[in-house]
Amino acid sequence: MLSKVKISGGGRCNVTNYISDPDIFSSMYPRGNRFVRKAFYQFYNADTIEWFESRGVKLHAEKDGRMFPVTNNSQTIIDCLMNEANHYGVEFMMQSSVKQINKSESGWELILSDGRSFNADTICMATGGGNKLEHFQILQALGHTISPPVPSLFTFNLPGHPITELMGLSVSNATVKIQSENLKESGPLLITHWGLSGPAVLRLSAWGAQLFAAKNYRFTIVVNWLNQEKEEQVRFLFQQIRIQNGSKKISATCPFELPQRLWVYLLTQSDIEDGCRWADLSHKKQNQLIRLLVSSEFKVEGKSTFKEEFVTAGGVDLKEIQVATMESKLQEGLYFAGEVMDVDGITGGFNFQHAWTSGFVAASAIAKKLMN
Ligand SMILES: Cc1cc2nc3c(=O)[nH]c(=O)nc-3n(C[C@H](O)[C@H](O)[C@H](O)COP(=O)(O)OP(=O)(O)OC[C@H]3O[C@@H](n4cnc5c(N)ncnc54)[C@H](O)[C@@H]3O)c2cc1C
Repeated sequence: MLSKVKISGGGRCNVTNYISDPDIFSSMYPRGNRFVRKAFYQFYNADTIEWFESRGVKLHAEKDGRMFPVTNNSQTIIDCLMNEANHYGVEFMMQSSVKQINKSESGWELILSDGRSFNADTICMATGGGNKLEHFQILQALGHTISPPVPSLFTFNLPGHPITELMGLSVSNATVKIQSENLKESGPLLITHWGLSGPAVLRLSAWGAQLFAAKNYRFTIVVNWLNQEKEEQVRFLFQQIRIQNGSKKISATCPFELPQRLWVYLLTQSDIEDGCRWADLSHKKQNQLIRLLVSSEFKVEGKSTFKEEFVTAGGVDLKEIQVATMESKLQEGLYFAGEVMDVDGITGGFNFQHAWTSGFVAASAIAKKLMN
């Protein structure tokens, strides 16, 4: 029960994000940003913080905006949610899943995998994401359109590439873009045993989730190790260095905030010998070094999950859901919450915030309907 909450945020549960502007907050959702923006009118991050605090769970924000329980332990969140469920007498049925949902005269009939069946006035589908269409079969059978599910939030594999020998190194602000596509992201970039990771890569994987799936995770990326720096700016800088530091060894005088081992790697890839001095750097080798600094190309072949933290891009088409209630526009009495919908965010607490928001909106609407 709540197994994903348990392992979320590296066992700390990144409950939400501190960004206060809903426009900025909703821009963190590659799919569903306009939908969540509207839903935030009913339940936003401040409501999440208040909801947990009023139940004895204080949250704290880290510098990058991610919010965790002050205990830094996801069990605190699980205990809080379970207490609340017990308080309202929620009954859990474990070890069986819902196989089928039928419309009945009074509402709904649910058929479980162990053969049992139940009647319900309303249903809230909060079955999460799944990378196979079968996961959404029950909803397709009820007439809902499913945007094809594909994984989001992954790292890029560069099998056998020499850069992977620098595993563990990170650059604080690099830009990664996809060749021939209008997709790019900046931020910390991490070199791993398998390829490239870090926030810049994870965010790019989210924005391009469908494109990368269509390319079968084979595409070329271009890395600017100097973030936005342009070729001409670097060339100008090199001219100055050659005048001021001509007698110094290039390998010992990296003019950028790059890890020394990465600098040496880029020099080696540009055929610049270890003892070469700035004054002796040939134009050809200088051009090659500048090219590698601002536009190193890598052929990505495959993906890996980042700390097993992934979400599904795709799910129930948002055009078929009323944002004010989370009720299906096709089936009265059928509601949705969480990742089952075609909404997904980048890392940083955005996926849980969508789950809390849509869960709150759906539950409020169901309660109102049943009271009427
Ligand atoms: C390792 C990991 C770490 C993460 N960390 C974070 C984080 O720190 N912050 C963040 O914002 N997001 C995080 N995420 C994403 C976040 O966990 C999900 O977006 C969120 O859990 C979605 O909630 P949900 O209720 O929609 O679905 P889920 O949490 O996936 O829950 C769906 C539930 O429905 C059940 N179910 C499915 N089908 C059926 C069926 N037919 N019958 C009965 N039950 C069914 C499942 O067993 C499951 O219990 C993480 C994801 C992973 C995988």
